[in-house]
Amino acid sequence: MVTIKAAALEGFIADIFAAAGCSPAEAERVGRYLVSANLTGHDSHGVVRVPRYVQQKRDGAIHADIEVDLLVDTPVLAVVDGKFGFGQTVAPQAVAIGIEKCKAMGLSAVALRNAGHIGRVGDWAEMAAEAGLVSVHFANAAGSVLVAPHGGVERRFSTAPYCVGVPLPGRGPLVLDFATSIVAEGKVLVASQGGKAIPEDALIGPDGKPGNDPHLLYGDYTPTGPRNHAQGQGAIRAFGEHKGAGLAFMCEVLGGALSGTGATSHGRPFANGMFSIYVNPAVVDPTGFFPGDVSRYMAFVKGAKTAKPGDEILLPGEPEERMRAKRRAEGVPLPDDTWGSIVACARAVGLDERRIQAATA
Ligand code: NAD
Repeated sequence: MVTIKAAALEGFIADIFAAAGCSPAEAERVGRYLVSANLTGHDSHGVVRVPRYVQQKRDGAIHADIEVDLLVDTPVLAVVDGKFGFGQTVAPQAVAIGIEKCKAMGLSAVALRNAGHIGRVGDWAEMAAEAGLVSVHFANAAGSVLVAPHGGVERRFSTAPYCVGVPLPGRGPLVLDFATSIVAEGKVLVASQGGKAIPEDALIGPDGKPGNDPHLLYGDYTPTGPRNHAQGQGAIRAFGEHKGAGLAFMCEVLGGALSGTGATSHGRPFANGMFSIYVNPAVVDPTGFFPGDVSRYMAFVKGAKTAKPGDEILLPGEPEERMRAKRRAEGVPLPDDTWGSIVACARAVGLDERRIQAATA
């Protein structure tokens, strides 16, 4: 395991993307958002993605420094084409449009199509919450056919994330943010690289047997080699039986089909689609009842007797907030395989050995 301070890791990742052809501003942004995922404990959406992003850039599957196109623009609604730009560049542009419209109208919706990987969706809910807005996000990952529907063994959904953010005065927002699969694909990726194991029933084989061996998803691979989910015979399972699978289906319909990205299918290029709704709570409730009642309710929920003595009830966003504080102080731990694949990527884009050594100094 290698442990690196967040700022040093951000700088190193930024240097890799600058060497791969991104502008300094985009390289910094991609580094910052990837490390943000690691800081919140979502290593699956953090720097483990660097080799894959660099490869996608090299293959022309994602493009540097994209300015989004506004395809539909009404006072409350925008349809935004991300034109296969880096998700860390086009998603914040789409969110900024939603915030601006919501600030003016009290309510807005933005459909983002054809974004490169937008990473941790919670980052976008946090951006809206910083502007004082409630937000709801339905997303899909067209082309990334990974998840079996309820009762099935063949892949039909992406890991289609769903996210809700609620700002609160004087503290961080509530952020519910999860893949509609038992695990996000990146968690299988992390497990395949020697990181945290996934739950025993997270995957399903073509024979209908649940399991957690990453080979079910990726087929054969070497420790630092690429993982290709097209090679595996199995699928990830949707969470929550028919209810979770139903939410996944609606993320595909809204984040995918309604955004114009397309619901997940074989043969589509990888792109995230996201349909987001923004609400200004100060317009819904000018009396200030809402934040007070949420605070009261949070305390009521947290005060429930726990199933195991000594346990604690956590609210959406609390695990991330705590992990962020811990990793900011202690640094970001990375399994050797993950670090090895990032270093190999740094060498491949031409960073010199002194820069690579300096990252861990
Ligand atoms: P997860 O299973 O860790 O669930 C995270 C959510 O559950 C958070 O809201 C967290 O605050 C809450 N939570 C966790 N433990 C809790 C507890 N003990 N009590 C109460 N609440 C708790 O998340 P995941 O499904 O692995 O998703 C990880 C990340 O992957 C998310 O950020 C998601 O946006 C991202 N993702 C992105 C894509 C994409 O295509 N861009 C696809 C899938 C997932």
